[in-house]
Formats: sequence, C-alpha cells, structure tokens
Amino acid sequence: MSITALGVDPTQCLINGQWVTADSGDTLDLHNPSDGSTLCAIARGSAVDIDRAVAAADGTLAGEWGRLANFERGRILARIGTLVLENADELARLEALDVGKPLTQAMNDVIALARYMEFYAGAADKIHGATIPYLDGYTVYTLREPHGVTGHIVPWNYPMQIIGRSVGAALAMGNAAVLKPAEEACLTALAFGELARQAGLPAGALNIVPGLGAEAGAALSGHPGVRHVSFTGSVGVGKLIQTAAAANVVPVTLELGGKSPQLVFEDADVKAALPFLTNAGIQNAGQTCSASSRILVHTSRCDEVISGMAARYGALRAGPALDDLDVGPLVSARQKDIVEGFIAKGGDLEIAARGEVITDAPTGGAYVAPTLFAGVSPDHMLAQDEIFGPVQVVIPFEDEEQAVSIANGTDYGLVASIWSRDGARQMRLAKRLRAGQVFLNNYGAGGGVELPFGGTGLSGHGREKGFEALYGFSTLKTVAALHG
Ligand code: NAD
Repeated sequence: MSITALGVDPTQCLINGQWVTADSGDTLDLHNPSDGSTLCAIARGSAVDIDRAVAAADGTLAGEWGRLANFERGRILARIGTLVLENADELARLEALDVGKPLTQAMNDVIALARYMEFYAGAADKIHGATIPYLDGYTVYTLREPHGVTGHIVPWNYPMQIIGRSVGAALAMGNAAVLKPAEEACLTALAFGELARQAGLPAGALNIVPGLGAEAGAALSGHPGVRHVSFTGSVGVGKLIQTAAAANVVPVTLELGGKSPQLVFEDADVKAALPFLTNAGIQNAGQTCSASSRILVHTSRCDEVISGMAARYGALRAGPALDDLDVGPLVSARQKDIVEGFIAKGGDLEIAARGEVITDAPTGGAYVAPTLFAGVSPDHMLAQDEIFGPVQVVIPFEDEEQAVSIANGTDYGLVASIWSRDGARQMRLAKRLRAGQVFLNNYGAGGGVELPFGGTGLSGHGREKGFEALYGFSTLKTVAALHG
C-alpha cells in the first residue's frame, strides 16, 4: 500500500466502528492531480454497504449514541477537534495529494475542520426548545430532536471543510451519520473517521462508504432508512438527490455552487478590494462553490480594477500541491478539460491577464493558468455558467440599478459582495441582492464557520454552518399538556 489515511488502509469502509472491505471487494483508483499518477485504491462501496451502514447508524441511535447527553456528544466532538489539530500536518499533506490544493490552503482546511468540531462541540447543549403561552389550563413546549440517520454526500473540492460543517452539525444534534465521500478525493474523510473512532465516538454514529456517485451515492440518497440528506456538488446531481429523497419524503440540504459577484462602485476603496477580488476567484484553483467568478465594476473604475487584478494575475504561479505555490492543479484531467473548454469559448473576448504554470510542472498534472477576461457582456456564457476553475470575468456597469440587475441576472444566488463607502447603498443592496450571504467591503470572511451559508435558485436551499445548521439537522416537536 503506497499511502494510508492516518494508518487506515484506504480500501476500507468504516461501518459500525470497524474498518471493513466493501461487500463486493471491488476498488477504484484514486489519482494525484499534481502528476496524474495513481495514489492508491479506495473501496467501491455499493448499495449493500450503504444498507449495512444505515443499519449500524440505526442501531446506535437506539443504543449508546442515542443515550448520550448533549454535552457528552459535545465532548466527543471537542476531542475530535483536538485530534485533528494534533494530526494537522498529515491531514494537510493527504488533502494536498488528493485534491491538488497547495499545502497552505490544505492547512487552512484542516484548521477549519477543527473549528467546526470546536464550534459544534460547544453548541451541542445550547439548542433548546421554547415554552409557548397557550389556552388556560395548558402548558406547551417544544423539543428539538434529531432526524435519525442522516446521509452526507460530499464533493472533492473541500472534503474536510464540508465534512466538518455537515457531519459536525448532524452529530452535535444527535443524528447518526452515513458519509459518502467523493470518488476523486476521499483520504481525509477516512482519516476523519479514524480520528472520530480514536476520540471515542460510539460505533455506528459515523459510517463512511466511499464509492461512485451512481452506486453508493444513489443508494444513500434513496435509502428509506435515511431521514435527512445533505448534498454539496453539481446542480444535475442535486436534482437527482432531491428526487430520490422525495420518494421517502425526507428533507434535503442542497449546496450547488454559484456565479457569485463582487460589485465595485465608483466610491470603492479599490486598493483594499484588489486582494479579495482576485483571491476569491483563484483560491483552490477556482474550484469553490462560493468562488467569486464575476467582478462587476463601475465604468469609472474599470481601468484601475483591471490593471490591479492583471498585476496580481501576472504574479500567480501554478504548480504541484506540495510545492505550495499560489495555485495547484485542478482535481482531475476531466475537470481541466471542462475549464479549458470554457476558456476556449471566450473566443475573441479580451484576456486581460493570465498567470503562469511553472515550466517544470509534471506533464501529467491537471494545470490551468489562471485567466482574467475583461469587458465581458453579462449574458455571455462565461458570465452565466459556473466554470469551477481559475477563471474570472470583469463586467462593467453604469449605475446602481444596472449593477443589481447584472448581479441578480444568473440562475444562481450564493454569495455577493459590495465595495462602496456609501452606508445607505450597502444597506439597500444587501437587501436587493439575490444571495445567501452578502459581504460589505470584504468577501468570504475567512471561512466563516459561525456564519449560516447556503443559496437560492440553482445554488440550492437549506443552510449549513453556524447555529442555523443545527435547526436543519433537527426536527421540532410540540408538546401540549392539558392539566387544568
Ligand atoms: P458531482 O455533483 O457529480 O459529485 C458530487 C458528489 O455527488 C460526489 O460524492 C459524487 O460521488 C456524488 N454523486 C454523483 N452522482 C450521484 C448520484 N447519482 N447520486 C448520489 N450521489 C451522486 O460533482 P462533480 O462531477 O464532481 O463535479 C461536476 C461539477 O459540479 C463541477 O464542475 C462543479 O461545477 C460542480 N461542483 C460543485 C461543487 C460545490 O461545492 N457546489 C463541488 C463539486 C462540484
């Protein structure tokens, strides 16, 4: 075995607290996007393994896990967070090898995972119901209860962060989780499972079944024993998952990406904005659901913004994840082809700047030089479609009304930011912009473990992160007592 996930053989699934091979014994190859080599084999889980995982989760809900007090669940999450930090270097290395993200960005994800554990550890005993004044002779109160078994289908772009925000919140509320990591990147999911075991998480409270989306993923989203499904990924698969969950009448949280704008007004502090304008587009090679791929700029500041961003793009270097440059490879050759296809569709649009792929980058790596397009019309496909690569477009606008119309003029609505010194405009537009998060004179707010996150339109529905996730991962029961 060439690589292990903190000592775990990556061909294993975690079911009922044990590392076991998939029922079929089949495996899939995991690739290193920095050079195209095979990293290791992972389990190809199937509906049979999902069945076993759901049964294990069900079993512990009726047993050890279900009997723990909220604060005891919190303590276990806190211990997982401590173990994450103690193993930070190895987790970052695994994520860098697997996803292709530069080591520094991978380390930020490790820290975010630990923060999710800390946050939800502290929150586990702080979500409670209410007493409701009702008719004479009644006492009425509400109880927050777990759904039961929750399904978590996560993508490859931020495995640790997305596991942290969805599994962390689900466990804090007392659900038992079945996690299906992405077939492109699942090493840190397995490592997380091992750390959870070491932290004393009861067997069955977290089960992990790697495999293909159409097999293990479809089996999980349609399993009648699963009472809530959390999904992050593409719009097409999100629709399949909502349809599968609908057959069992269970709620879903869908986080499906975006085409998030930053609006730079005539009175903006452009110098302060420039690092945010650029980083929000190229972080993780643009493979970020909340990437800011559209930069809307008042015509009076266009030259300044484009030349400032071009200077930053000119200094960007892409190379192997372990070299820890500004940008790593995309996750796969397939993703590279998709992104290059988009860049080609720029046709005769003006390319304002490109970063550089270092000359000795391995030829088998999935590298794309960051690319900035200027003067793009709002209805061009580069300004409408989620590219999921290091590509940004600058779109000029004349006034506030046009800026809002362009910002709201895609099918998505995840994140937006407003760069302006005018407080009244900030308040006005924060209400008018179609997005789940709006930032004023910043973007992304450093990961935002505490900040509710999610979208509207094709960006999906439901909220994860912060306290809000705990409401999503629980159900409310009203108890009405007539005592006279
Ligand atoms: P995807 O939606 O196919 O995969 C995401 C997860 O869903 C993976 O775990 C996958 O195994 C699973 N899955 C796939 N088919 C499934 C099915 N039928 N039933 C249940 N689960 C299934 O995403 P992708 O193919 O990896 O990427 C394609 C595009 O999706 C990207 O180019 C990007 O635009 C978008 N994407 C968005 C995000 C995000 O954070 N919103 C993340 C990854 C990809």
